[in-house]
Amino acid sequence: MQLLWREPWLKPLIDYDIDSESCSFCKKKFNSLSFVTSCEFCQIEIMHDKCANSHILERHMSELKTKIGQHKEKALHDFQ
Ligand SMILES: [Zn+2]
Ligand SMILES: [Zn+2]
Repeated sequence: MQLLWREPWLKPLIDYDIDSESCSFCKKKFNSLSFVTSCEFCQIEIMHDKCANSHILERHMSELKTKIGQHKEKALHDFQ
């Protein structure tokens, strides 16, 4: 099992930070209060937090595996 930790803090986005009013993954309009995030692997616009998970699993499996591998290596080095 591999669990990924998302940043725990919430940062309200200001209107001018946001180019779109809808999720770039599911294309639904954001509610007045939505949890959103961006993708760290590509330049896709903001998505629902849930959608970002699906997006990353669908589109960035290889990047994800690389990233997980890097962290494992780092952890090993920390113990040496
Ligand atoms: Zn969405
Ligand atoms: Zn992406």
